[in-house]
Amino acid sequence: MIEPNSELIIDFELVRKNIQEIKKRLPKHCNFMGVIKSDAYGHDLKIATNAIKDVVDGFGVVRLDEALVIRENSSKPILAMQGVYSTDAYNLLKQNDIWSVIHSTLQLPLAKQYKNNLIFWIKLNTGMNRLGINLNQLNQFKSFFTNQNVLMTHLACADNPSDELNKIQLQNFENSWSQAKNEMKRSVLNSAGVFNFPEYSYDWVRVGIAMYGGLDLPNLKTAMKFRSQIISIQSLDTGQRIGYGGRVKTKKPSKIGIVYCGYADGFPQTAQDGTSVIVNDRLTEILGRVSMDLISIDVSEIPDCKIGDWCELWSSDLPISENAKKNNLISYELMTKMSNRVKRQYLNI
Ligand SMILES: *Cc1c(COP(=O)(O)O)cnc(C)c1O
Repeated sequence: MIEPNSELIIDFELVRKNIQEIKKRLPKHCNFMGVIKSDAYGHDLKIATNAIKDVVDGFGVVRLDEALVIRENSSKPILAMQGVYSTDAYNLLKQNDIWSVIHSTLQLPLAKQYKNNLIFWIKLNTGMNRLGINLNQLNQFKSFFTNQNVLMTHLACADNPSDELNKIQLQNFENSWSQAKNEMKRSVLNSAGVFNFPEYSYDWVRVGIAMYGGLDLPNLKTAMKFRSQIISIQSLDTGQRIGYGGRVKTKKPSKIGIVYCGYADGFPQTAQDGTSVIVNDRLTEILGRVSMDLISIDVSEIPDCKIGDWCELWSSDLPISENAKKNNLISYELMTKMSNRVKRQYLNI
């Protein structure tokens, strides 16, 4: 073994396959916005743009500087989803043909000056109470009711279809759209929404996490392989304790593998005993508290296990959503918290 390192191997063929799987659920006329905010959920903004630009209809990001990076690499529509706030920013939108969101009436005076030159998405607060104009403020936006512009909202509980808030939000949205004389295009759904409410796909869906395989849904694969090597193996008797706090006590003679990766690489410090990992194609689990640079795993049942073997922490064979679920986290957070020191490799870009 020469200089071990934790590795993140991102396979964009898996991302493209996930996109095709998601598209199968959508009506033909529906446009697919690939959401690549936050460095494409940790998958690299520029590389992701180039790897998926042929299979999406547009891109969604939060910040203007992200939008500008995309524009250097693709001519497809780009939406800056949290809006812009200055004349300088509006001029950049104009120069680079970037769409933006209006989520507050405070943005109105400046936005009006550009209404004939730019495309706007008007974001309604239908019940999530985070961003968006209130339903009774929509009449202030009459001059934006055109077939170019989009009326949008965001569902708070799209991942929980039985929550009553979904029905309320969808009804509020429909009412507002008729108030806009049915003239605008419409966009409501994120990833979970596409799977739970496909009948509300309308003109654009805005899909992030599902492209990367971060949701536990049929035929989606985690596109990130996060792995590192075993650098030590401990043979322990019954009753020995492992790691900080001695959280675990062996119930039988055990072999423990020590993996060259820890919470400083992006593996969750709060991971529970029993969180799954894969070594030599065999499923096993972590034991004991995760350290800054090390994770201990049970390799008792992997007799051929040796120093230098790879331990997969998540991959297409071990969904990131499983780790998240086990540890009461969300895959969004795991993906966006991968540390810089993890060595990156990009496949099929
Ligand atoms: C992040 C975001 C999305 C994408 O959400 P996913 O759950 O990752 O699909 C869609 N719409 C808005 C407004 C967002 O901020």
